[in-house]
Amino acid sequence: MNRLKMLALDCLYPNRCGCCGSRLAYDRLICAACEAELKEHPAEYCEWANQNAEAKHPWDAAAVAFQYEGAAKSGVLAMKDGCRNFAAYAGVVLADRIRAVTDPEELDCVTWVPITKKRRRIQGYCHAELLARAVASSLHVPVRDGLLTEQAGRVRQHQVSGRERTEYAGRFHGTGCDLTGQTILLCDDVLTSGSTLRQCTSELKADGAARVIIAAATVRLQTEQSNAVETEKS
Ligand SMILES: [Zn+2]
Repeated sequence: MNRLKMLALDCLYPNRCGCCGSRLAYDRLICAACEAELKEHPAEYCEWANQNAEAKHPWDAAAVAFQYEGAAKSGVLAMKDGCRNFAAYAGVVLADRIRAVTDPEELDCVTWVPITKKRRRIQGYCHAELLARAVASSLHVPVRDGLLTEQAGRVRQHQVSGRERTEYAGRFHGTGCDLTGQTILLCDDVLTSGSTLRQCTSELKADGAARVIIAAATVRLQTEQSNAVETEKS
């Protein structure tokens, strides 16, 4: 599309910052202030998620992009509320973090933590899918839909805490695709206690995946993670 058309479209549908929602030039994803804030709160490496990966988690490595606070938190909420810009921005940053924990050439495909059909209909898209597609495009790895499903239930994930998160995670299932020997990158927006990603990873491995690398756009602070894990263990 040429520049004139883009400018005309921008008058009709103004581009907005993927984090704070302020008006932006048509070719930007987030504003300078939010970008500066994100750079102040990077999550370069998630020690908690990578520590004793085999003993503690079913996944083989983990990558995260930002701490879940400030502009990053606003970006995740905006992504669930119709603005897709944060997914495109975070996807590129996340791809860099993934390169630090694994060789992209070893990845067979990129997939994501799904949402229910009903929520997808209401929201119009799956935010984790947007993120996964941005990551996949940056890493030049194909995406695969339909490896996991989420059963419908009354409670949304952000409404549960601690032990309930483990029960909530039980709603995610594999779909029986033959993933024998594959290395799969599994994307989500927020890594909190890890219960959803643990369940999804186990399901992918039950369908034959040899390795699963998890990638989350944001991670909650370590103290909160430790508390969440302790709550689940107790
Ligand atoms: Zn902004």
